Amino acid sequence: MKQAESLYQRACRVIPGGVNSPVRAFQAVGGNPVYIASGRGATMLTVDGQTVVDFCGSWGPLILGHAHPKVVGAVKEAAERGTSFGTNTPREVELAELLCRLVPSLDRVRLVNSGTEATMTALRLARAATGRQRIVKFDGCYHGHSDGLLVSAGSGLLTGGILSSAGVPAAAAGDTLVAPYNDLSAIRGICEAQGPEIAGIIVEPIAGNMGVVPPEAGFLQGLRELADAHGAVLIFDEVISGFRLGPTTYGRLIGIRPDLTCLGKIIGGGMPIGAVGGRGDIMDLLAPLGNVYQAGTLSGNPVAVAAGLATLHVLLEDPPYDRMAERARCLAEGLNAAARASSVRLHCAVTGGMFTPFFGDAPVRNLAGAKACSAESHARFFHEMLDRGFYLPPSQFETAFVSAAHTAEHIEAFVSAAAEALKRMG
Ligand code: PMP
Repeated sequence: MKQAESLYQRACRVIPGGVNSPVRAFQAVGGNPVYIASGRGATMLTVDGQTVVDFCGSWGPLILGHAHPKVVGAVKEAAERGTSFGTNTPREVELAELLCRLVPSLDRVRLVNSGTEATMTALRLARAATGRQRIVKFDGCYHGHSDGLLVSAGSGLLTGGILSSAGVPAAAAGDTLVAPYNDLSAIRGICEAQGPEIAGIIVEPIAGNMGVVPPEAGFLQGLRELADAHGAVLIFDEVISGFRLGPTTYGRLIGIRPDLTCLGKIIGGGMPIGAVGGRGDIMDLLAPLGNVYQAGTLSGNPVAVAAGLATLHVLLEDPPYDRMAERARCLAEGLNAAARASSVRLHCAVTGGMFTPFFGDAPVRNLAGAKACSAESHARFFHEMLDRGFYLPPSQFETAFVSAAHTAEHIEAFVSAAAEALKRMG
């Protein structure tokens, strides 16, 4: 028996479903999940001795690839000085200053431990700042697993959404309105009907949790205008997109200023972190200045902060963004050409270093489009590629990443493996 199988069997006895986060269980693609022994640069070594080129990148944080020497050095140095103090350290000030400098819409920023904490706090702030209850989110955007955000579109836009998890109070669904992504007229309708009750609009400015789906022209600007017109707080969830397409947020790159921004992933360089930041008048509602409570034993953890600072400094000193975008573009073009030469319906979406092979014909612009793609073909492709040494996110509804560590050779090898895989599938 392979080591991964025996580990998974042991795990299933002591960890629910054998995993510490659901999508790792390979439910969408079938088969035994992988177990990783180590990673370096663009590759990972499985416990069974297979080397795979990694396009999942720990779901986004590893923009520099695995075990980047500067990040590992910073982590070691920080750990040797003590892993946590439960009080203040100089480097958390440095990271907050750097974030505020690189993202001008952040007057102030608070560090937390995960993306979920960041969005949860952003909603609380939006409610406190407006004295209103309701939140609007977009179907297919994921903002972590807090109650009010585990809601998906119900049958009517103007009624609350439907709970997408058991154990969430029904009131959460009533207070969360769900609109289709990239559809300004739908959200305009919601705002016209319920504007005075809407505390905040939360959106992934590039959607990454239904596969990568970029915003259409005018969508985000339209949200900014609607939030202003109705007195709602505009929240950009940049947990994936922050520092992914340039050394700043996507909002900053396109010149749209949200009231609050949520960050995570890259700013922790692979260590657990999150951040919420934005307008000073809203951020100052947080305790101890204001009466919005938020806290964390390990918030601003010195090891996580060191990994994040090291990552951001590498991104500033040697920006990999053009290179990553070019490689991802080559990968997508190669994949689309290979698909045309086969009988498999495939369209690879790409934005900067983010890409998703969607198993359908038309470009995807919202969750309905992503759901219309063939999950079965995706699952087949995932395993064909894994067998050939390429690790993709194990779900159709996820974004894959080209990191700074991927070379032109990795991309060429991916494209020729994909051509073989697609031929076998067709
Ligand atoms: N927001 C977005 C856009 C995300 O993609 C994620 C996680 N993938 C989260 C929030 C939640 O982050 P975490 O898993 O760190 O809680």
